[in-house]
Amino acid sequence: IPVDGFDLVIFGGTGDLARRKILPGLFRRFCAGQMPEDARIIGAARSEMDDAAFRETVAEAIREFGGAQGADEALAEAFLERVGYEHVDATGETGWESLKGRLRDGVVRAFYFSVAPSLFGALAERLRSFGLADDESRVVVEKPFGKDLETAKALNATLAEHFDETQIYRIDHYLGKETVQNLMAVRFGNMLFEPLWNAQYVDHIQITVAETVSVAGRGSYYDTSGAMRDMVQNHLMQLLCLIAMEPPARFNPDAVRDEKLKVIRALDPVDHHQVVRGQYEADDTQPGYRTHVDDLRSTTESFVALKCHISNWRWAGTPFYLRTGKMLRSRTSEIAVVFKDAPHSIFGPEAGTHRNVLAIRLQPNEGMTLGVTIKEPGPGGMRLVDVPLDMTFAEALGPDAEEVPDAYERLIMDVIRGNQTLFMRGDEVEAAWAWTDPIIAGWKRRGDVPKPYDPGSNGPEDALMLMHRDGRKWREIK
Ligand code: NAD
Repeated sequence: IPVDGFDLVIFGGTGDLARRKILPGLFRRFCAGQMPEDARIIGAARSEMDDAAFRETVAEAIREFGGAQGADEALAEAFLERVGYEHVDATGETGWESLKGRLRDGVVRAFYFSVAPSLFGALAERLRSFGLADDESRVVVEKPFGKDLETAKALNATLAEHFDETQIYRIDHYLGKETVQNLMAVRFGNMLFEPLWNAQYVDHIQITVAETVSVAGRGSYYDTSGAMRDMVQNHLMQLLCLIAMEPPARFNPDAVRDEKLKVIRALDPVDHHQVVRGQYEADDTQPGYRTHVDDLRSTTESFVALKCHISNWRWAGTPFYLRTGKMLRSRTSEIAVVFKDAPHSIFGPEAGTHRNVLAIRLQPNEGMTLGVTIKEPGPGGMRLVDVPLDMTFAEALGPDAEEVPDAYERLIMDVIRGNQTLFMRGDEVEAAWAWTDPIIAGWKRRGDVPKPYDPGSNGPEDALMLMHRDGRKWREIK
């Protein structure tokens, strides 16, 4: 279904994110027939170039990142007709009047801030003072949203000077992933899971976001951030909220975001014994973290594992284990709900203990697996084995299913539709920082040094111990 006509201005339109994600994503939505005739995309950035030169950079981006249709020149040509460029200085006067002249009345106006967060304030201010934005316009802001509670509050206050909360779309692209939305469909669309979704039946929940990439190429930024700020405060906490929240009364933006906020506010402070930081070492083929960030004494973490508790009626006593890191064994993201043992085994101790696990995979092969215990086939008596009921979405929905949009495509279309459900509200972001700040401050106070781990491993040994001492273990990063 096509969205309404729009003018989308991408500040930072020549940058890396626009080239790899935003522009190819828009192209794919165009190919899917979702972009109406009167859609316009205007790149706005510091480089001096004209429409034709910008279109050439967009054409390259489409060829490289636009998927199979990126090679279709006729489609690319038709898309590029909607694309223009304005040389704009976010902190000066250049380009603003001219950019304003390109905008039309009667269509949705959206401004994507794909620039360094230090420019958000200047952009917001100029959008208003030059009269480009009004009370109907939308602004999209990228991560990082602050580096602690104080900076996030300042950023929220700056945006609030110029825009109402209903106009602000804070991107966390994890929320745009198909599986993440499926998590809500599975929880709230079925009778099967929700009655068991609580401390009485769930032993614990694990959330893993493992990456194989290093920080090479973005070391100078990453070293000021670390895994806690770069991944846990936003992506992992968003996943935690969706898995743990109460059912909202409606699937509408504030109903969903109110419930997520309640989860964050119910999180207990984390004891420092329940957090493990790691930093990857060098191996035979490549340098380690400290070489990548060009600081041989850096104590920034490229890995975090932690155990936390949500103090409410549903989850009291159920631990949540979170871990994320760079340079790990494989690129695996999943949420695993590990159910408790059956209260009594009628098959005797030799049958062993078996647990149901619902694993929701974000990557690779988005899908879900439910581990079910059955009888081992054959005449050997009542021996039990665990088998996976596996549903890979792509297979289950078949080849005729519409191509699953990438997270960015979906989220940008939601901006045009005016649907904020999958965007973070200002108070959510602040609450998340209020929870992570003391953990980070504690490391600093104690002079904590991250534990080394080998590239291609599961992270530092201490992270394994975090679960072992509770008599549990991490699921394998395959
Ligand atoms: P980049 O450095 O590649 O591009 C920056 C863009 O900002 C360029 O188009 C540049 O011309 C423009 N710019 C800089 N100063 C300007 C000024 N004074 N006036 C107008 N334009 C100006 O950055 P990026 O990697 O594309 O990242 C953009 C934003 O997205 C950042 O906030 C970043 O944290 C965030 N982000 C990036 C990624 C990624 O994968 N690259 C992922 C998540 C979030």
